[in-house]
Amino acid sequence: MRKPFIAANWKMNNTVPEAIRFVTALTSDLKAISGVDVVIAPPFTALYSAGVALADTEFYLSSQNLFWEDSGAYTGEISGPFLADVGCRYAIVGHSERRQLFSETDETVNRRLKAALRNNLVPIMCVGETLAEREANQTWDVIRRQLDGGLSGIDLAALADFVIAYEPVWAIGTGKTATSGQAQEVHGLIRRYIADKFGSAVADKTRIIYGGSVKPSNSRELLSNPDIDGALVGGASLDPKQFAAIVRSAH
Ligand code: PEP
Repeated sequence: MRKPFIAANWKMNNTVPEAIRFVTALTSDLKAISGVDVVIAPPFTALYSAGVALADTEFYLSSQNLFWEDSGAYTGEISGPFLADVGCRYAIVGHSERRQLFSETDETVNRRLKAALRNNLVPIMCVGETLAEREANQTWDVIRRQLDGGLSGIDLAALADFVIAYEPVWAIGTGKTATSGQAQEVHGLIRRYIADKFGSAVADKTRIIYGGSVKPSNSRELLSNPDIDGALVGGASLDPKQFAAIVRSAH
């Protein structure tokens, strides 16, 4: 049985005081919740203070990205050892905004995934097709290519934890959610891909989460699908009440 996984991707939102206010409100609202992995991914500047506010809770901290080298002359970059140092357990890798706005490729996703694993950070690897790709019936070709390239040289069977987020690009921040059926279909294909490549025990334990305009009004239905193990939440994760409602719907 896979434990539900609900992650908040704050993107470039929430200053330090706002992050602390959010975490304080959320942890008091969800004090009694158990049986769900709850993860908060603040911007780099708020990681440390959010981590301090999360201490003594069961919630986890994640980065939204990481660089592939560990240290050195890479002005402006943040690497795995620094993220581990501030208490991150997870790292989002290959988010579509990184792919579209910052020229992320399957090759750089692969390098970042390896850097996360080398530093004991559990990756949340994002994959997903654009609207044009879906309309051209290329959805699975695109996702298979992202999985092949991103996972090159990585053996999921050797890992205790690894999370894949299916995020159709056309559903991110647009208010358009994939239907339950559309999401389940792709999640099922991803799980079969993992089974074929790494074996059915790995496919059974790997959490595959959905992202794309998840909100309290649609989360329960999405999460009721057999291969949807959680959600990566952007917009609705900026309101602690909405995010708490999504976490409750996974319970
Ligand atoms: C995301 O940024 O990963 C995301 C899914 O955003 P939203 O929930 O706003 O669509």
